[in-house]
Amino acid sequence: MRASTYPLVDAAEAAALVLERTPVLPAEDVALADCPGRALTDDLIAPAQLPPFAASAVDGFAIRSADGGGRLRVAGESAAGRPFTEDLPAGAAARILTGGVLPPGADTVVMVEEVEQGDGWVTVPGGFPAGRNFHRPGDDLRQGEVVVARGEPLGPAEVGLAAALGFPQLRVHGRPRVALMSTGDELVEVGQRPGPGQIVDSNRWALLAALAEAGAAVTLLGVAPDRPEPLRELVVDALRHHDVLVTSGGVSVGTHDLVKPLLESLGEVHLGRVRLKPGKPFTFATLPSGRLAFGLPGFPVSSLITFEVFVRPALRKMLGFARTQRPALPVRMGYDASAAGDRTEYQRVALRREGGELVAVSTGSQSSSRLMSLAGAHALVKVPPGGTGIAAGTVVEAIILSLPI
Ligand code: AMP
Ligand code: MG
Repeated sequence: MRASTYPLVDAAEAAALVLERTPVLPAEDVALADCPGRALTDDLIAPAQLPPFAASAVDGFAIRSADGGGRLRVAGESAAGRPFTEDLPAGAAARILTGGVLPPGADTVVMVEEVEQGDGWVTVPGGFPAGRNFHRPGDDLRQGEVVVARGEPLGPAEVGLAAALGFPQLRVHGRPRVALMSTGDELVEVGQRPGPGQIVDSNRWALLAALAEAGAAVTLLGVAPDRPEPLRELVVDALRHHDVLVTSGGVSVGTHDLVKPLLESLGEVHLGRVRLKPGKPFTFATLPSGRLAFGLPGFPVSSLITFEVFVRPALRKMLGFARTQRPALPVRMGYDASAAGDRTEYQRVALRREGGELVAVSTGSQSSSRLMSLAGAHALVKVPPGGTGIAAGTVVEAIILSLPI
């Protein structure tokens, strides 16, 4: 065992340093199918209005409102995609279906339920007002309006609007290509029976889920042994095709902890220890060509918490998002949280709704090996270092992972 030579960096400072060193990925033109979860490089401005024409909102009859009260001749039909193109003559109605174009001359639509129909005629109520039951051009979106701002996530509605406006592809920031690797001679594949002293590589699957949720494109590299050469070969090869390397294990000060020296030889290690609980041995390096490497600690909770604090925001920045952090909400502490000496502790909590408030309850033992402390956790409560902790009843801003609905 040797003592670590890396200075202990404050957790918030370390997170800021990672973000500072993280590049935003360049623009690419991407088909709509791959746009969800991406961010535009520039505001999307509506080149045209929606709807593009006056379109009926109901099935019924398009008329001139002045003709209400009488029996009107049915002059034709305007169905969706098959408009009635002539001027609607006075004293006439056009049958109209939902989505049909309001014929020129007509100024209102009477619902089919409100008319009496005969053979080639229809009677509409008297005094029927103009402007009913159809969407005017531009009602939904005006030409020149900002549809989606740059840096905002593209979701179903945004992608639908882009399609409606005629964009088969959008210019978005690249999706980070991440190589994910576990390290450790004790690890076996899931499904295999662990021998004496062996454990299943669970971090791979937990981190894969976390990476996918964050929007990364992931390549699974499997398990690297605790030997410098095979580890180096795997990493060097992976870095040819990826923007980011994420490893778990092999960053503490034991003799088999090979990730830090490897990253030292490939690039510049900026962080080797952080004042964070769990996750003290977290390691961050920049590599040539703007690539990044994150050496996450091996303990399952440590790897996921350091992912949350450091990796997820970096990936969001690479994707071009204006907001890189998860949302925070005020929650009332339902327990006394004690401070972890000189480290910021991210305690895992479940939230309960009590009256109009969210109340945080601990998920139990906060051991860095106890993944059950994160399973079902709704939020993370940041307990600052050095003080007396956070007393029950205090309201704090919690980092929201999901809401208890
Ligand atoms: P290390 O940081 O390599 O010293 O790993 C610390 C501990 O984390 C190990 O003793 C294992 O118990 C655990 N661990 C490391 N890698 C994994 C993994 N891929 N999946 C599950 N547990 C792991
Ligand atoms: Mg190890």
